[in-house]
Amino acid sequence: MERHQYRVVITDCDQGSIEEEKEELGRIGAELILAQVREEEDLIRACKEADGLINQYALLTRSVLENLPKCKVVSRYGVGVDSIDLKAATDLGIIVANVPDYCMDEVASQTISMMLALMRKVAFLDQKVKSGQWDFRQGRPIHRLKGKTMGLVGSGRIGLAVAKRISAFGVRVIAFDPYIEKSREDIELKDLDAVLKESDFISIHCPLNDSTRHLIGEQEFGKMEKKPIVINTSRGPIIDEKALIEALKEGLVSGAGLDVLETEPPDSRNPMLKMENVILSPHVGFYSEESISELKRRTAKNVSDVLRGKWPGSVVNQEVMGKTRATISMD
Ligand code: NAD
Repeated sequence: MERHQYRVVITDCDQGSIEEEKEELGRIGAELILAQVREEEDLIRACKEADGLINQYALLTRSVLENLPKCKVVSRYGVGVDSIDLKAATDLGIIVANVPDYCMDEVASQTISMMLALMRKVAFLDQKVKSGQWDFRQGRPIHRLKGKTMGLVGSGRIGLAVAKRISAFGVRVIAFDPYIEKSREDIELKDLDAVLKESDFISIHCPLNDSTRHLIGEQEFGKMEKKPIVINTSRGPIIDEKALIEALKEGLVSGAGLDVLETEPPDSRNPMLKMENVILSPHVGFYSEESISELKRRTAKNVSDVLRGKWPGSVVNQEVMGKTRATISMD
């Protein structure tokens, strides 16, 4: 029987195949086991001998982690690490790593697609033509894109990728982001009220947290002077959906493109399902064949990096530095 230098366990995953992970960990001679377990006892049994873990939804609580004496690293598929007790991992010297930027390109493209489809009324006119009506006037009014203003709420990785793409159409980009100090050549920073007032398109790219929940509500819709198209590819609850529905009904906003909703999937009575100026997609922004493949490969690479004594690409619990179970070389 082949003897492996390391054992890595995937606690659980819903990606179908684990080819990329196998290939990546094969480079360091690691054995890879797909456990597909979620219960505490099963997790401990399956992961007890593991040098490293890959995790999706299974909860890695303190009591699970305390029973994994060899585990040096946990790498989470994607951005969020809510499934892992970070404090416990840090106390035990376990590095927690993630892959925060695997789908920037996809979410930015989803945002631009929704925005262009709404402003050119693509879905609306498609329905008209298919129902036998060939009349461009049904789309009136459609305005020229060049010279318009796009307002971003949040100007991090995805916001910047959106700005780069839309600037190529001759659109001016402004942004509200309280954690960024200086405007860039292609993005002028403004306060939120100015973004709401000046934008023809408003696109949400901040994270969901206590200070951004319902950040865009009745008051904010009231400040939108240009009847903008609103796009949300970030997280549903950042927009107060009831207030958005009212704003759409009252014509305060001229359309909405939503990849994320307050309730996913939406209730069948959600009025937006019947609105012609609303485009919805099923939280697909992250997805392409390439982004998933990259995610799998980089999640596994975080583990192989640590087992080879390297600091991985993205560490979530930086405080673990100096007390890691793994011996990490800093060069
Ligand atoms: P990021 O961390 O690079 O950028 C987020 C930006 O928001 C940061 O610049 C931050 O300063 C800013 N911000 C924080 N609080 C704010 C506030 N109150 N008002 C305005 N700006 C604020 O994150 P990212 O990679 O650009 O991702 C953005 C969001 O996209 C994620 O939080 C996630 O919710 C969402 N996302 C969605 C999908 C999808 O499938 N639709 C996929 C990936 C990410």
